[in-house]
Amino acid sequence: MWLPVSLNRPLMWIALVALPACVWIPDAALRIVAACLVALGLWDAWSQVRQQRLRLRLAQDAMGLASDAMVISDAENRVIAVNPAFTDITGYESQEMIGRKLETLAAPRHDKAFYQAFWSTLKATGRWEGEMWNRRKHGDEYPEWLKVRAITDKRGNVTHFINLFTDISAQKAREHDLRRIGYEDPLTGLPNRRRLHELMSSRLRGLRAGESLDMVLIDIDGLKSINDSLGVDQGDRLLARFGQRLASYMAGSVVGRLGGDEFMVIRTTTFDDHDKWVANLRDHMCRPFEINEQSLRLGLTFGTCRAPEDGRDSAVLFQRLESALYSAKRLGRNNSQRFRPALDKQDNPQLALVSDLRAALVSGDQLELHYQTQHHPGSGALIGMEALLRWRHPKDGMISPGEFIPLAERHGLMAELGSWVIEKACAQQAHWQHSGMPKITVWINISALQLFQGDLETQLATCLERYRLQPAQIGLELTESVLLDERAGDMGPRLQTLRGLGYAIAIDDFGTGYSSLGYLKRLPVDKIKLDRAFIRELPNDQADAAIVTAVLAMAEGMGLEVVAEGVETKEQCEFLVDAGCTQVQGFYFARPLPADELEQRWAPLPLAVGVN
Ligand code: C2E
Ligand code: CA
Ligand code: CA
Repeated sequence: MWLPVSLNRPLMWIALVALPACVWIPDAALRIVAACLVALGLWDAWSQVRQQRLRLRLAQDAMGLASDAMVISDAENRVIAVNPAFTDITGYESQEMIGRKLETLAAPRHDKAFYQAFWSTLKATGRWEGEMWNRRKHGDEYPEWLKVRAITDKRGNVTHFINLFTDISAQKAREHDLRRIGYEDPLTGLPNRRRLHELMSSRLRGLRAGESLDMVLIDIDGLKSINDSLGVDQGDRLLARFGQRLASYMAGSVVGRLGGDEFMVIRTTTFDDHDKWVANLRDHMCRPFEINEQSLRLGLTFGTCRAPEDGRDSAVLFQRLESALYSAKRLGRNNSQRFRPALDKQDNPQLALVSDLRAALVSGDQLELHYQTQHHPGSGALIGMEALLRWRHPKDGMISPGEFIPLAERHGLMAELGSWVIEKACAQQAHWQHSGMPKITVWINISALQLFQGDLETQLATCLERYRLQPAQIGLELTESVLLDERAGDMGPRLQTLRGLGYAIAIDDFGTGYSSLGYLKRLPVDKIKLDRAFIRELPNDQADAAIVTAVLAMAEGMGLEVVAEGVETKEQCEFLVDAGCTQVQGFYFARPLPADELEQRWAPLPLAVGVN
């Protein structure tokens, strides 16, 4: 038993002996002496107590001030005390932790052998230090750098453990910068769609009895007209500010951007106040934004749902949020709709489109490949061809790939759609090779999903064999986000092999995906396709002009070819010629055309281009 006063001090013993003497000794003078000794003993005890209290307070203050989390646990590893940094990191208050076994916080990332090694080191040496994954109160898993010391009594038995740890998730994220890019929306720094899926799943897994998730999908009405009237820069600023306001209002919840003008919030709660919560959030986000000294009031459309009532699976919940948002848009926007089961069955055009796309893949006659030529900007000579997918919907007419490809990716149709494209493009290339068309590479766009859902390499090999083509006749366009998508594994070696086989590789939409130049240097690619966003304002926009010039110089230094995309005007073309660009693609030279129209234009083998 712990006493605040030590009996190991002589004054204490003297006082204890003197205490009965105060009562029993008859001599008054001696009694006074004894009383003085008792008083001295009491004073000593009091000063000990004060010192102990001071030490305790200092220790508590130090624990409170420390930015590292501290946990003191007993020999059974049951928590005795935690500091505020622990609460900040894990979300658990001290009273929730006291008496609880520390291992209940462990994330299921380490196997049994890891924990066996942990305990045997701790027992043998009295200390352990290393990285460990734990789980916060709301279910997110995070890495910590943990130091554990075992405290022993005089006989060497462990009485306590002192655990000291820091949350190294930010540090790890920095270490894995490139990986992280695939998880973060670059404009707002918020989690992107992919990360939101993960966060929603982990929050769903972490739900306890009595807890629910409130979820909202927010769509900013008319962002396009804001971009048109204030400029894209101001539109971006508005999106970033919107994200900041949302994140600070919803601190502690998950806030992310799905892309474009769509944001999402996920809150874990024990309250049953979904509608009120949504209404408050709307009020807060509808307050005006000051942009360019103008007060801008936004129209916001909300689709909402709640788990577990509306579903327990993140893919289903995402779809239900989209259904709810869509129904809110149909009701005239700037309002809020909660998911209702009826919405699932209502004629949601997105779902209808997915089922039409399935049918199109089966029938095969609604899909087409169009081809857009690539040219030398000075001479106009034909140097390449990009295959672009088209869907001629029986009722809705032409649907843009920008619309149906993301849908195919989300609904598991991309691998099949991608194979269709490869097959058709190879067949077309083979046909051209036999009909006197210029011998140029046909470039095919490859989606991330084809890299980890389908066996791209085998598919390509099969098609080449079937159509008797050489790999050099086919080029693969991969966007930066595909290269950084870690679901596809480390792309370096795969690209190396493909390139070794003779396929040409290009990075598509270069400049939009934030890949670092250092990373690019390590990637075995032949070409970069400079995104049309940098070309659009040429030659007037100085920043774009500087970027284009710098990319061209950098690419030359790295031995890479550059294709400028989206060239629409003579002025843009002239600027690019002056800047040393040798390959361009865009409406100025040719729009994407069906194969037969292209043949009429290009066969037999002219060398100068007619500009349309
Ligand atoms: P992308 O790969 O960047 O393709 C170029 C897009 O820019 C095409 O749009 C093309 O029509 C358009 N474009 C070309 N020149 C100009 C120009 O001068 N000005 C403007 N404003 N636009 C121009 P499209 O065909 O609508 O394709 C959109 C995107 O859909 C493509 O962007 C690509 O990411 C994707 N896509 C198209 N076909 C396929 C495919 O077979 N597979 C995969 N995975 N994605 C595809
Ligand atoms: Ca492309
Ligand atoms: Ca592109």
